[in-house]
Amino acid sequence: MERLIVAIDGPSGVGKSTASRLVASELRIPHIDTGAMYRAIGLAAVRAGISTRDEKGVENLASQVHIEFIPGERGRILLDGEDITPLIRTQEISMAASDVSAIPGVRRILVRLQQEMGRRDGGVLEGRDIGTKVFPETRYKFFLMARPEVRAQRRYRELLAKGQATDLETVLQDTVKRDEQDSTRADSPLSYDHSYTVIDTSDLSIDEVVSRIVGAVRAIGA
Ligand code: C5P
Repeated sequence: MERLIVAIDGPSGVGKSTASRLVASELRIPHIDTGAMYRAIGLAAVRAGISTRDEKGVENLASQVHIEFIPGERGRILLDGEDITPLIRTQEISMAASDVSAIPGVRRILVRLQQEMGRRDGGVLEGRDIGTKVFPETRYKFFLMARPEVRAQRRYRELLAKGQATDLETVLQDTVKRDEQDSTRADSPLSYDHSYTVIDTSDLSIDEVVSRIVGAVRAIGA
């Protein structure tokens, strides 16, 4: 039987992760956080002292490390067997992930991994290129967006909750810079087309976002 694939794309701070996790749990399929995989390569590069903009170096590294994403209530990301989940949500690793994600060789490796996971068990995959590149054939595509100030606010609160010292202005600047980089890269830029359902989450609660997505999946599937 065809596995159910739900693609949830959008920039950072739109509530993608929380919404994707809850949608997956309602639909009883795995939640696959593809951003965590790019973050893992970013962390591996930083640790190895390889510049995140060194295409050859990072591509080489990506072909040697073993990345595994384990879905679950709290998904976990493993780098060569080490659980690096608590280490990947810093501002430094966010930028590193954005840098390495522009490298075609890195995308090739991670997209293949994501396709294998999705084909095996289905899933709600969240990322930037799920509906355009990873599973373009799925009928269930959602693009979440929100005003930049709202997104920076959300990121800021997330970082504060994790005890990371920062200020709102820096977070806003980083958010804008990362989106710009993700939207203008040559390979699989952040984008959407008419096959997506677009949801502006600026003034919606997380429950409203989840029920719109789940409602649309059920309506399309009916
Ligand atoms: O979603 P998250 O903020 O964790 O993603 C981190 C970075 O990984 C993004 O800024 C983006 O550059 C990259 N990414 C990507 N394609 C995906 C998921 C994430 O390029 N499918």
